Amino acid sequence: MASTNKPKRYKNFIGGKWTATGSEGTFQNVNPADVRDVVGVFPAGGKAEVDEAVAAAKEAYAEWRLVPAPKRAEIIRRAGDIMVKAKDDISQTMTREMGKVLAETRGDTQEGIDTAYYTAGEGRRMFGDTVPCELPNKFGMSVRMPVGVCGMITPWNFPMAIPTWKIFPALVAGNTVVLKPATDTPATSVRLVEILLEAGLPPKAINIVCGGGRVVGNALVQHPDVSVISFTGSTEVGKQITADAASTLKRVSLELGGKNAQIVMDDADLELALEGAVWGAFGTTGQRCTATSRLILHKKIAGKFIEMLVERTKKLRVGNGLDAKVEVGPVVNESQRDNVAKYVEIGLNEDKATLALGGHVLNKGDHANGWFFEPTIFTNVKPRMRIAQEEIFGPVLSVITVKDFDEAIRVLNDTAFGLSSSIYTRDVNRAFQAIRDIEAGITYVNGPTIGAEVQLPFGGVKGTGNGHREASHTVLDIFTEWKSVYIDYSGKLQRAQIDVSAG
Ligand code: NAD
Repeated sequence: MASTNKPKRYKNFIGGKWTATGSEGTFQNVNPADVRDVVGVFPAGGKAEVDEAVAAAKEAYAEWRLVPAPKRAEIIRRAGDIMVKAKDDISQTMTREMGKVLAETRGDTQEGIDTAYYTAGEGRRMFGDTVPCELPNKFGMSVRMPVGVCGMITPWNFPMAIPTWKIFPALVAGNTVVLKPATDTPATSVRLVEILLEAGLPPKAINIVCGGGRVVGNALVQHPDVSVISFTGSTEVGKQITADAASTLKRVSLELGGKNAQIVMDDADLELALEGAVWGAFGTTGQRCTATSRLILHKKIAGKFIEMLVERTKKLRVGNGLDAKVEVGPVVNESQRDNVAKYVEIGLNEDKATLALGGHVLNKGDHANGWFFEPTIFTNVKPRMRIAQEEIFGPVLSVITVKDFDEAIRVLNDTAFGLSSSIYTRDVNRAFQAIRDIEAGITYVNGPTIGAEVQLPFGGVKGTGNGHREASHTVLDIFTEWKSVYIDYSGKLQRAQIDVSAG
């Protein structure tokens, strides 16, 4: 299809220089709401660019780690200030490159700003412990040390928030960075690098190599001088990265997929639960790792709630996210849209669930040039059906009816993932039991499965990750090593566990 505009030529930033060429050629990034709109042409990097970027980051690390943490943090705070001014501009580009509606891309940018200010404060904390020592005239403490060069591999659905979750704390902790953004959203990542440079970051401390996952991502993962890989993306790729990194023994932090559920109990405020379900399932066109893809309804309210849900969802306006009236944007690309359609087929034919709403590609009129799909609801879904087990990552909601609270919790937990979860109830005892018994990294009470804030840990259990948590101060566990320090000021050799009187 012919381009309607002259595409902008973007560059990689490697070793302190912007470079237009990539050893793997170039690739295009198009607007999923109108594929004739080419957002940019990007250099496709390869192993050579990764080697160069890692060498530069390694060189920069020698000096950056010695800059006091509060000074490093000032640069991140300034980056936040620049993002505040550039918020509209960043959000417009983001909507063009990945489709979600402007209100949401503003929210994504705001999350980056929040992360900047939160992390800047961490530059004056980064607490360790001081502890009493068992021997006299001896002092003990633990301090966080940077780990070196951090490789970051990011997905397309939160093109600003997710890179900032990784890059800002890594830099404040004294590390340097090589970023490999998703091929669907490199423009927002390039903008982030520009912002960091404008904020005063030493140029070689940040490098961006755009290009394919199997080439650029893999070269980063295998590189012996990269100490940590911080990856957010699909469970499949996360497993591959873990295997590829194993021989280097580097730390791998994984934030992976989800199959999140919202429970609605018979005593819930149904209007509130409805707003939560619609926002959780169809916000970001269902393309959030925390999206509500299963709705678990108590049988007493199920019939009425499904009616309300279908009526409300019918009214959602699907279209170009740059249009202020639109509530649901396109799916990110053709293959993802085809994947959603494939799951609707599975729901109908293999699972034999009931299609209560939607189920079709939208490709006429205003939708003719983009990758649109109707908001879709399946009812009569059984917990082990594929549409209730596998991450679809699109606007498809599977509704399951249960007889009581215990069954609701059992069904919610019956999945390979464990990222986000939600329960709507007015019963405080039930709410606390749910908090205790749900197997997930995040539980909301009377709120949808989406809406994390940066000051609390973010991540999940089971197939959603490997035990790390981003955001909060817990993210520092990914980007630092603990060092234990013993200072003996007795002036003589004191032997731990030996030169102590018997207890
Ligand atoms: P993806 O796994 O296809 O790609 C993620 C990144 O990995 C991209 O930059 C890609 O180029 C790169 N990549 C692909 N193959 C690679 C390889 N072999 N080696 C190294 N890098 C490789 O995921 P996506 O489609 O971009 O994002 C959607 C997925 O991300 C969903 O599963 C979603 O649940 C997950 N996600 C998780 C979180 C979370 O925090 N848990 C947040 C957002 C998205």
